[in-house]
Amino acid sequence: MISREIKIGGLAVGGSNPVRVQAMLKSSAGDASALIKEGRNLVKAGAEIIRCAVPEKGQAKKLYSILKELPVPLIADCHFTKTAAVEALDSGFDKIRVNPGNMSAQAIMDSVKKASEKKAALRLGFNTGSCRVSTPQELANIALTWDEKIKKTGFKNFVVSMKSSSVKFTVEANRFFSVYSNTPLHIGVTASGSGIEGIMKSAAGIGCLLLDGVGDTVRVSVTGDSLQEVKAARILRAIASGEPEGLEIISCPTCSRSRIDVEKISVKFRKSLSSEDFKKKLRVAIMGCEVNGPGEAKECDTGICGTRKGALLISRGKITCAVEEKEIIKKLVEEIRKRKT
Ligand code: SF4
Repeated sequence: MISREIKIGGLAVGGSNPVRVQAMLKSSAGDASALIKEGRNLVKAGAEIIRCAVPEKGQAKKLYSILKELPVPLIADCHFTKTAAVEALDSGFDKIRVNPGNMSAQAIMDSVKKASEKKAALRLGFNTGSCRVSTPQELANIALTWDEKIKKTGFKNFVVSMKSSSVKFTVEANRFFSVYSNTPLHIGVTASGSGIEGIMKSAAGIGCLLLDGVGDTVRVSVTGDSLQEVKAARILRAIASGEPEGLEIISCPTCSRSRIDVEKISVKFRKSLSSEDFKKKLRVAIMGCEVNGPGEAKECDTGICGTRKGALLISRGKITCAVEEKEIIKKLVEEIRKRKT
């Protein structure tokens, strides 16, 4: 079902809008300079919405005054009582996130009323850690009951999320909900772990849902650097949309046939362009040998394919020239810069 459009601050979410990347700050709520530095870096990396935990009552106003310079909508993450949620909305936050699993029904309804008065947005965040359920359908049914209850008040500017640390559970709950409601969904796999395991779980869960057309905002949540979460979310969104953003590097996994050091070239090539902005979509292929190399490279804006004597540079589908291995990065950088503008 196509979701309805809502507004978070000035940002349209749901409907036919692109999936929005959300990030959550990890710096301590008491460390103003760390919070704003992290927020600026996340926005620079592509975060379109920033969420911030409000752990104690009385903190919302200060947090908002620190973060309000960020050029994106701000969400206050509030739990247990309505106090922080109401304070956050009074302070100027564009949206609150509340959890029916750890707040009384009355506190949720009071938060909804306040969000409506303030013309703000709200997320009902259901989580298997706080909603005692044993099946995805059970979680989705609780969410659907709340969804109906809130819609009946006339307030529509809200989203729902259903998260679990289980990928399968998360995917099934969100799929189920999306069949019965047009409320936009914020998606993600919660507490997915660290390193490659966390990224893989998030990729599997978020990837499945986005490819199904389910999900309007997305957050990758792993134990570790919030910047990596934003980068991973952007990559996932690009993969699922079939339209990669900016510079996409296609490189082969290498095998015993490989004629050039594909890994080293790929890493150095990306690094040499890391400070440059690529608004235009560009694809570069770095392929180890003649087996699949010319074919893949011809599909790209430019590419390199290892040969017995070094490599062939292929641009816009045509072999341009032979290149020595030590000149590959320089040549690729030159070619891609020509196509940037
Ligand atoms: S392109 Fe060549 S080197 Fe790379 S994986 Fe394929 S066969 Fe191996």
